Amino acid sequence: MNECGISDPTEISLDLIVFGRGATLVEKQLENSEGRIVFGEKRAIITINSDIAYEGKKRFVIAHELGHFEMHRHHINIHHDTDATLEYFKKGNQETEANEFASELLMPENLFIAECKGRKFGPDLIRDLASRFKTSITSIAYKYFELGDHPICLCYSYDNAVRYWKRPENYPHFMKNLTNLAPPDDSVASEFYQDKRIYRKEYSKQQIWKSTWFELKSWENDNDFKFYEYCIVTPTYNTVLSIIWEEI
Ligand SMILES: [Zn+2]
Repeated sequence: MNECGISDPTEISLDLIVFGRGATLVEKQLENSEGRIVFGEKRAIITINSDIAYEGKKRFVIAHELGHFEMHRHHINIHHDTDATLEYFKKGNQETEANEFASELLMPENLFIAECKGRKFGPDLIRDLASRFKTSITSIAYKYFELGDHPICLCYSYDNAVRYWKRPENYPHFMKNLTNLAPPDDSVASEFYQDKRIYRKEYSKQQIWKSTWFELKSWENDNDFKFYEYCIVTPTYNTVLSIIWEEI
């Protein structure tokens, strides 16, 4: 970014960057994918699904494809991205690299830390940051996990099964290992799978028990803890990203 004399990532026109790097950007309806890159002899074509309603998500997908363009042009000919490849849990592959590229392009570390500083964690902060950085809500959640002020845990479910989860290093609570099992009955994620419930903005912060997602020690009492869950639901892919945190 500094190369172009731009200090704020939201001033970036991604179309111009894509074009300047030698790729073509097309927006059209895609079935079952959010973005795609096709490498030709001379140029690459990046296609973005025009059905993506949220501008920030569109920008994140474009930046992700740009990451493939910059880093993987000698490894792949054609590549499709869905919500599954745009999440961050699988480590050490090309998807992670493309996500990290997009994340750093749209949310430079020092700016992100400055924007989080001293602000109370919750769904409103996540949404504010998404509009501040013009990127997807989920990309903000992963970035906040890495750099935010308040420790949060993330749990990604797909088709009513927990696929991945992570908690900060040295977090004082242990998550139950629910990999490949249904989200707990009293979790907000489960409300989506069982009852198709998606909370409106005002209610998206839901109080849960510590024991919902974490091991409760024999000497602990659920009433002594204040845990919350905020779910980012993508019904078209049947995925839920649960953000779980404690208020002390
Ligand atoms: Zn990808």
